[in-house]
Amino acid sequence: MFTDLHSPLQQLKHSHLSGLWVKRDDLIDPYISGNKWRKLKYILKAAATENKNHLVTFGGAYSNHLVATASAAARSGLKATAFVRGEKVNNEMLVLCSLYGMELIFIDRETYKDKRACYLQYAAKHGDTYFIDEGGASAEAVLGCAEIIAELPKDIDHLFCAAGTGTTAAGLLQGIQKAGLKTKLHVIPVLKGGEFIRKEIGHYVATDDPRLVLHTDYHFGGYAKTKPELLDFIKVFTAEHGMLIDPVYTAKMFFAINDLGFKDYFAPQEKIVALHTGGLLGIMGMKDLF
Ligand SMILES: *Cc1c(COP(=O)(O)O)cnc(C)c1O
Repeated sequence: MFTDLHSPLQQLKHSHLSGLWVKRDDLIDPYISGNKWRKLKYILKAAATENKNHLVTFGGAYSNHLVATASAAARSGLKATAFVRGEKVNNEMLVLCSLYGMELIFIDRETYKDKRACYLQYAAKHGDTYFIDEGGASAEAVLGCAEIIAELPKDIDHLFCAAGTGTTAAGLLQGIQKAGLKTKLHVIPVLKGGEFIRKEIGHYVATDDPRLVLHTDYHFGGYAKTKPELLDFIKVFTAEHGMLIDPVYTAKMFFAINDLGFKDYFAPQEKIVALHTGGLLGIMGMKDLF
């Protein structure tokens, strides 16, 4: 399943953000989407090495990671269980998870806080389980995301990504550091108070690196929060470029690039690349807003 495939690098052609290059990881797979595919690649390898046939993971009710894990598990002949944060609900994402055969266990927010304890309790009763943290955050995930850099040209001035846990950003920075590139990595945390991302990235790579740049003002109120100007941006962008973006992650990143462009942040000849991390099912979670 995780064959070496290179997602395309495309240049936006039309007026709005014209000239920007986009690494289309959203095209890798419709359900194991974007960075979740990158993250699961080595996680699944590690599970196989340890002879574990049952993935156990965690997420919110609209988690791209849960759908990705459910789909990847089914395709690999593995069992999958997810602890879902909050009261029992049903939505488009969870329907897909169930169809892929994932077992869903809803737990309250307090219990959810201690994921390890939940996992250990569950694992004691079920053999051969493999723990995958929320969003797939792990050293294996960092390794998978670092591979993106090897697929990109070496002369990129600015590379952008959206960040939730910061794992993808850590992988990209690791790739940049290992290859000794001049590329600046611009990270757009989608949560409020995004400075915390530096510490998260720091679990995996050195962050006292001038190539790492955080832009913490594009959260639009916080995780899964939005504002009319972001929704308007999504509508214009999607119609103009024929490329879907999601309100939780990628739209905030593209908005940031557009905004920085207006503020003359970039020099005229600089090469800018945005990593499209996928997550388009996230549109379903906010469909009533459009
Ligand atoms: C999960 C996700 C992210 C965040 O990735 P992290 O590694 O947790 O920072 C970004 N974009 C999309 C589309 C995602 O689904």
